[in-house]
Amino acid sequence: MIIEKSFPAMGTVNSITILDAEGPGVASDARAYLLGLNRAWNCFRQDSLIARIGREAGRSAVSVEEDTMAVLRQSKSFSELTHGAFDVTAGPIAALWKAAMLSGGHPSDMQIWQALGLVDWNDMLLDEDAGTVRLRKIGQRIDLGGVAKGYVADGLRKRLRQHGVQRALLNLGGTVAAMGCATRIGIQDPFRPTGVPMGTLTLDDRCAVTSGVYERYAEIGGRRYHHIIDPRTGFPAKSGLVSVTLIGKDAARLDALATASIILGVEESAALLAAQSIEAVFVTDQGRVLITKGLKREFQLLNQTTYTGGAEMSVA
Ligand code: ADP
Ligand code: MG
Repeated sequence: MIIEKSFPAMGTVNSITILDAEGPGVASDARAYLLGLNRAWNCFRQDSLIARIGREAGRSAVSVEEDTMAVLRQSKSFSELTHGAFDVTAGPIAALWKAAMLSGGHPSDMQIWQALGLVDWNDMLLDEDAGTVRLRKIGQRIDLGGVAKGYVADGLRKRLRQHGVQRALLNLGGTVAAMGCATRIGIQDPFRPTGVPMGTLTLDDRCAVTSGVYERYAEIGGRRYHHIIDPRTGFPAKSGLVSVTLIGKDAARLDALATASIILGVEESAALLAAQSIEAVFVTDQGRVLITKGLKREFQLLNQTTYTGGAEMSVA
């Protein structure tokens, strides 16, 4: 028996496919878990837990439950690991560019400077014993947009395993986990319409997370801007990478590092990923595809004409 559930959340379509013969209650429980975290972590909803932590910034600590403490703890360590390229407190600068992309107006230098002054993951204080979190300065905001889907994929796998499920496929829009099984996935072609892959990847009991700057962007004053912001400059990342797919065991880590890789560019991120035993497929704005050595067999380029370099190019 195969049980499948598809539903919208986290700005994407999610599907949970259970390949074991297990009761339908398991998939419903998994869906409820995902929707619960989505509600708590959506920084754009006034009634979310993450929004409340922001309102209390510079004032008081807020009690959080286990999953939120865990995602914040992990996010803090990813912020440190990437030297702040991924910064869990990117909220003010990410929100500024999100508003700019919606309105079509460019943020002023003053606004960028003010928002950047509030971005510092060291100011997110976790009290594990008390089960609380506090942001040091008024105006600081947490943004889990770059890590939430990965964390949820990890949490779902753990939950399914607890229910006795051994084989399942999770797809949270760009975040794929093959649990106890192998699958072949397509990697979106960044230069073509949604749904057109540029290559395929065989995933065996691992996760793949893609981060790209081609899906959510806007033109402001004739220039293209996107949603991954470089905390060093306050502007959308300009590293020359348009898409990064990371393959490994731990989806939260892959998600945060994929966002950071778009900011850091090929060389810096390749070094970081090699140290973490994470495999990668990079696509540059020049249409070059680069893969790490460990993917030679798993990755296949589909559309040779769009790309130069091709799958043989390897880094790390
Ligand atoms: P998506 O799957 O939406 O492309 P990503 O994992 O690439 O998501 O993360 C992008 C999101 O991360 C942005 O929408 C924003 O909420 C948040 N973000 C943007 N810049 C940063 C940053 N430097 N550090 C942490 N989070 C960021
Ligand atoms: Mg990410």
